[in-house]
Amino acid sequence: MTDYKIPFNFPAVVGNEKKYVAQAMASGHLSGDGPFTKRCHAFLEGELGIPRALLTTSCTHALEMAALLLDIKPGDEVIVPSFTFVSTINAFVLRGAHPVFIDIRPDTLNLDETKLERAITLRTRAIVPVHYAGVGCEMDTIMEIANRHRIAVVEDNAHGLFGKYKGKLLGTFGCLATQSFHETKNFSCGEGGALLINDPQYIERAEIIREKGTNRSRFFRGQIDKYSWVDIGSSYLPSEMLAACLLGQLEAKDYIQTRRQEIWETYYTKLQNWAASHEVTLPTVPGHCDQAYHMFYMLFPSLAKRQAFILYLKEQGILSVFHYLPLHLSDLGRRFGGKEGDCPVTEDVSDRLVRLPFYNKLSKAQQTTVIQAITRFS
Ligand SMILES: *Cc1c(COP(=O)(O)O)cnc(C)c1O
Repeated sequence: MTDYKIPFNFPAVVGNEKKYVAQAMASGHLSGDGPFTKRCHAFLEGELGIPRALLTTSCTHALEMAALLLDIKPGDEVIVPSFTFVSTINAFVLRGAHPVFIDIRPDTLNLDETKLERAITLRTRAIVPVHYAGVGCEMDTIMEIANRHRIAVVEDNAHGLFGKYKGKLLGTFGCLATQSFHETKNFSCGEGGALLINDPQYIERAEIIREKGTNRSRFFRGQIDKYSWVDIGSSYLPSEMLAACLLGQLEAKDYIQTRRQEIWETYYTKLQNWAASHEVTLPTVPGHCDQAYHMFYMLFPSLAKRQAFILYLKEQGILSVFHYLPLHLSDLGRRFGGKEGDCPVTEDVSDRLVRLPFYNKLSKAQQTTVIQAITRFS
């Protein structure tokens, strides 16, 4: 998979994934919404205490479902941080929305809630906060502003599953939230996602949109005697093989989250002195946030230093990576009016951030190798 001695990511089997996939294949039910999908739904609904979770083929598709459910129309405005993955906003732009990019806080790198209110206009239809690195956005302020203006909040919780803000689970604040089970995330089935529905008014239509615009879910539950095309929709449900693999991962939640916490805390404690003496900043996690341990990033003093560091690790067979390029300065972002200086913190952080190898099966010895290499870099 990789030429690196220590890759940036490695999606490992941790529990019953193989057994469950074999069971799914032997069961004669390979398409979606079979027993493994139902068990994943029940797991997410139970753990998060929410009325409905629906597996999707990706977080991108869950975001597309959210845009459909909110009836986003051409000319509507959707507010997102510029510092995020393209899907956070692309899903809404597909429906004709105009993206409104706002800057991030310099500490948590989350959407800067102090810049939110002035970005709202009469056309604003949704706010999509991203819990970066699995550390909660300032949800009290965001929800207060959104509720006062009657604007929907869709949490892009791709990083934040099982993280908490002031004791409340991430993904349970907005009317809708989305998860990713891509291989780079804490829990993975290769490609996959989920739509979390916190406001029950969206449940029935979400089931319809996910099933090609038909009321097939109600038919399978015996609530109607034939199913029909009732709305627009698409095919957003993953096969049972993917759900089986995902269930194996979800059931290993305690192992996965404990392992990731250990990895994160080891990086943090072992790199502290080196970071302080090299003008490198380690992540900020506010006391009221229980993070989801999605990633470990560092901020270098300059782009040149960051690039030298990535190259230095690469020469030792260790892959570290950067992200995100500011969306407002992307080709499409510029066509929507984005220009230099719109989001100064995003522009600055994007040049200076690096992510260290971080995956569930990163061994103690591998992590020691990474840390020793880093502390020899000056
Ligand atoms: C990974 C990611 C996505 C997209 O997830 P997919 O499942 O690959 O579609 C969206 N938003 C954020 C913040 C992500 O990190």
